[in-house]
Amino acid sequence: MAASSSRAQPPKDTTKTLTITLSARALFDLEEEDKFFHENGLDAYIKLMVEKEKEVLGKGPAFEFVKSALAVNDHIRQLDKDDDELFDIVIVSRNHAQAGSRIINSINHYGLCLERLSLAGGTDPNTYLGAWNTDLFLSPDEKDARSAIEAGFPAAVVYKYNGDHKDLPKDQLRIVFDGDAVLFSDESERVFKEKGLAGFQQNEEQKAGIPLGEGPMKTFASRIAQIQEKFHKANKPNPIRTYLVTARSGASAGQRTLITLRDWGLKIDECHYKSGASKTAILKAIRPHLFLDDSQSHIDAALKGGIPAAKVPYGINYENQKPVGNKKRDGDPVEGEDAKGTMKGYYHVTKKAKSGK
Ligand SMILES: [Mg+2]
Repeated sequence: MAASSSRAQPPKDTTKTLTITLSARALFDLEEEDKFFHENGLDAYIKLMVEKEKEVLGKGPAFEFVKSALAVNDHIRQLDKDDDELFDIVIVSRNHAQAGSRIINSINHYGLCLERLSLAGGTDPNTYLGAWNTDLFLSPDEKDARSAIEAGFPAAVVYKYNGDHKDLPKDQLRIVFDGDAVLFSDESERVFKEKGLAGFQQNEEQKAGIPLGEGPMKTFASRIAQIQEKFHKANKPNPIRTYLVTARSGASAGQRTLITLRDWGLKIDECHYKSGASKTAILKAIRPHLFLDDSQSHIDAALKGGIPAAKVPYGINYENQKPVGNKKRDGDPVEGEDAKGTMKGYYHVTKKAKSGK
């Protein structure tokens, strides 16, 4: 049933939306509850969630990102009240419907414009990513994020971080992309891993004029740029700012990234070339709502620095890491856990997850 008319509603036409699909554990802090489920089973878990349904859940790792994305919608509607090219937020959860009442109460408590949910009763969330027209999937579950990447959806693993939400910009959504194996394919990263820095530099010099392949976040970044373009055209302050923060060296290996962005027609507001140095200080200066990187060491350093970091489980870095022993689920049975998940190397850009865009 629709809520009262005074409350903002998500767009009816979902063919134009930029859809962020996320698990309940990405939006809210359900770690204790998840632990309880694994220790006590489904029936006890549902009983607990019903008993505590009036108890508001704490903010999860993607909460501030979602809140800021919804704030961008207000700016878009100020430009054009009939514009349906908005952020649409969808929860796709393994949670049982009976446990979902607490999640809904928490959405209402925080006043989020979030009306679309799948409480899937243990079913793999990937089953529904296409049905929801997903442009980005966020989950604390690495296997789920990896399965989504393999199915052609931009996806990342979110983590609890120790940052102060109050430090994040209120008037602008800031998103930081890594370059290799995030915006771009991992083709150069593979050369680096196989032949070292000298081999990498030689490869980049030889291919300086050749654009890089598309990485898993290219389509998401392009959708973000489309929304930014509305504000450029209207000559209004932009409520979104995007950043490339790469370990590449600017002078010797940066040119190829710029050629690639130009070839794609993709505008990124700022590019930072760290030449192998830590990314954390620059990330602290940017204060992003989401930092997307494929390297676990960059993610760990960012999280330690209080940055909301999300790992893109794709490419040579992911393949080289130890098998994930993550059995945590989104609060329900673990059936179908290994339904997908062979670790293929390359993102299949030909497999368009979303049609008509
Ligand atoms: Mg990378």
